[in-house]
Amino acid sequence: MITTAVKDKTFDVAEIREQFPILHRLVKGKPLVYFDNAATSQKPQVVIDKLVEYYSGFNANIHRGIHTLAEEATAAFEEARDTAQRFLGAAHREEIIFTKGTTEGINLVASTWGRQNISAGDEIIISAMEHHSNIVPWQILCLEKGATLKVIPIDDNGDIILEEFKKLFTSKTKFVSVVHVSNSLGTVNPVKEIIRIAHDFGVLVLVDGAQSTVHLDIDVVALDCDFFVCSSHKIYGPTGTGVLYGKRSLLEAMPVFQGGGEMIKEVTFASTSYNDLPYKYEAGTPNIADTIAFKTALDFVASVGKKNVRTHENDLLAYATARLEEIAGLRIIGKGKDKISVVSFVIDKVHPSDIGTLLDNRGIAVRTGNHCTQPLMDRLCVPGTIRASFAMYNTRDEIDVFTTALEKSITLLS
Ligand code: PLP
Repeated sequence: MITTAVKDKTFDVAEIREQFPILHRLVKGKPLVYFDNAATSQKPQVVIDKLVEYYSGFNANIHRGIHTLAEEATAAFEEARDTAQRFLGAAHREEIIFTKGTTEGINLVASTWGRQNISAGDEIIISAMEHHSNIVPWQILCLEKGATLKVIPIDDNGDIILEEFKKLFTSKTKFVSVVHVSNSLGTVNPVKEIIRIAHDFGVLVLVDGAQSTVHLDIDVVALDCDFFVCSSHKIYGPTGTGVLYGKRSLLEAMPVFQGGGEMIKEVTFASTSYNDLPYKYEAGTPNIADTIAFKTALDFVASVGKKNVRTHENDLLAYATARLEEIAGLRIIGKGKDKISVVSFVIDKVHPSDIGTLLDNRGIAVRTGNHCTQPLMDRLCVPGTIRASFAMYNTRDEIDVFTTALEKSITLLS
């Protein structure tokens, strides 16, 4: 019997679970407990069905064909853009660029806006809790241009120190790129305040929404961010697609990213003129099927209701935190003021990966290691953590199974 603190007319976790076929499988002979949602979420049947429907019903290349299948595929792809625009609260559909995901979105901005606007001696600010995807593209740019990467410090709880952030600005500061929700700690960063401060200094801001878009209501206009990036696969959609949002005036002024079909207006051997937004940044055949199914995922999340999901996930986080705090020798890493959906911890004298293996033997999927945030692990003086991250389909019962298995694993390893 599945129990949860949230069971009302609009949110029934048992009904939600019925829509995710993978949750019915066994792992090592045990019912799957999937707590690796920050890495990627599982997919509801409607998303899986949409992929099959596309390939068996209207597979065609988009924008160029005049036949029926091409028109149907193009319409569905462009509807995905409208849905993503509404989901993120963007003012214009041309501001929605489809990418491979968060990583490609950040690389696109670094290699276009960055190449055009960053010079020797300039400074770019990131935070101490960034994913490697929001560190390395800026390091590459800094190396190429002779610019400097500065890091906003965090306190021991895993909160950004805003006072220190303000002190980092100089006349050379050109860009800030920060994560909205930390994948390793679950900290929700005060991005609205960060953007306001940066804008007061005349500096643009990119928000890495890889972890936030699935949980929080995103309104890029209210946030006033200059760029926002996210990945479909963390929002119950397929892998290989995602969105870069950018303010229209910025996207229009930026140089192109990749060259090829679709991003051009006219090509001669002498020169090429480029297409209008958003196609200017969508060279080549895009990920049509996955982007169409991404729309289905966004509709699915909207129909369940993010507020319902948040209430449920907050309950799971509080319950898991309380259960874990009862375990001797366990230390939670990341006690930020505002957290969502992720609990990371270490255990005295036990290596995280040994715990991960023993939990897997009981059908429980957690993530162990540095979670692509090596500098954050260095800052917190841990080699890595064990991370449980929750989604709409998880339950308190699963947390009980997990904490019981965890205690048994610790006994075995001690
Ligand atoms: N940023 C954060 C905070 C993430 O959690 C991730 C993925 O885990 C990424 C960026 C990279 O996302 P993707 O691999 O989908 O490009």
